[in-house]
Amino acid sequence: MSHKEANDLQDLQYFGEYGGVNPSISDSSTYTFLSAKTMFDTFEGNTEGCYLYSRHSSPSNLYLGEALAALEGTETANVTASGMGAITAVILQLCNAGDHIISSRTIYGGTYAFMKNFLKKFDITTSFVDITNLETIKKAIRPNTKMIYCESVSNPLLEVADISALSRISKENNIPLVVDNTFSPLSITPAKLGADIVIHSLTKFINGTSDAVAGVVCGTKEFCLSLKDVNNGAGMLLGSTLDSLRSASILKNMRTLHIRIKKHSENAHFLAERFEKDGLKVIYPGLPSHSGHLIMEDQMNPQYGYGGLLTIDVGSLEKANALMEMMQERKIGYLAVSLGFYKTLFSAPGSSTSSEIPMEEQISMGLGEGLIRFSIGLDNDIQRTYELMKKCMIDLEILKRDTSNV
Ligand code: PLP
Repeated sequence: MSHKEANDLQDLQYFGEYGGVNPSISDSSTYTFLSAKTMFDTFEGNTEGCYLYSRHSSPSNLYLGEALAALEGTETANVTASGMGAITAVILQLCNAGDHIISSRTIYGGTYAFMKNFLKKFDITTSFVDITNLETIKKAIRPNTKMIYCESVSNPLLEVADISALSRISKENNIPLVVDNTFSPLSITPAKLGADIVIHSLTKFINGTSDAVAGVVCGTKEFCLSLKDVNNGAGMLLGSTLDSLRSASILKNMRTLHIRIKKHSENAHFLAERFEKDGLKVIYPGLPSHSGHLIMEDQMNPQYGYGGLLTIDVGSLEKANALMEMMQERKIGYLAVSLGFYKTLFSAPGSSTSSEIPMEEQISMGLGEGLIRFSIGLDNDIQRTYELMKKCMIDLEILKRDTSNV
């Protein structure tokens, strides 16, 4: 696998108007035109390089969009005010009233709730399937199916989607494959594997500083333009536009993404191996015991590793809560949702980020109440972190003292 996308990103340069090393921030919501005719043409979407109104597009948003398109190897990209802003715009652009979606059943709780509950308003139904079972997906296709949706590495169970296989099914049936790549930027490049549209919550690893909420839709020029269409574009009309100031700050943070992802992956891999050896139930795509390990190996860009997320099931919510509180007290990380921060973040998804998924469905997909999702931080000394975490687990009798020399 080549370094092409990271290099494309590295080579992408935008200068400020006085030669600044960062592009100037577009501090305007509206733009003047020298002729009324050009304004009309811009409304019609026919004038490249002209700006109309910042809900439609702004220079800062275009810079960030082009950086993300380089990252994902797509023709272009539209940035949005949140990951959900990207997801909902894509769904509503692709589906009409009465249509059908096939989605992985293990996805972010907000996406699940939107598909399962909110889309009822439009009579759009979703079949939630085990995305690793290709036969089930083929059987679920209906004449009105308008989208196959999955996360490349799923939230929270870290299920790995076989994007090439899914893309073959989607192409045979002429249905777009939409992949949320929030958990695996750089590690996986879904468009190279055949995904038609790639989405991110930039709120997570790509921004990496937990100070902004943002999203992106990466795809063809045709699709991204359709989202901006003044008459029919879900991006333009639903208004999930990112503010230029935020775009500029996210673009600057993105410049260190490759270094951060390597370190997140290295640290998470280290902990996953150690805790599995200690006898804990660990899910991490880098472990040979992970059901999607071989698919991950096959489709990943190896230099970025298997990602910064892992889960550990400690058996009960009570134990999970006690462990998380203790880890926070001992400064190992923060009891918080979200991911991709420099500090380790942990939460129990069954009672937080996936609580929108009904309990019986959580159980059927293997989401135990004692499951803790960890977004492993950029800790300099991960051996020390391991020892501190292990000490918490021994103190709470999650691990037996005699299994350890800590
Ligand atoms: N996709 C995934 C995989 C997520 O984990 C999240 C948020 O947690 C989202 C999308 C939604 O992103 P945002 O919170 O930026 O709207």
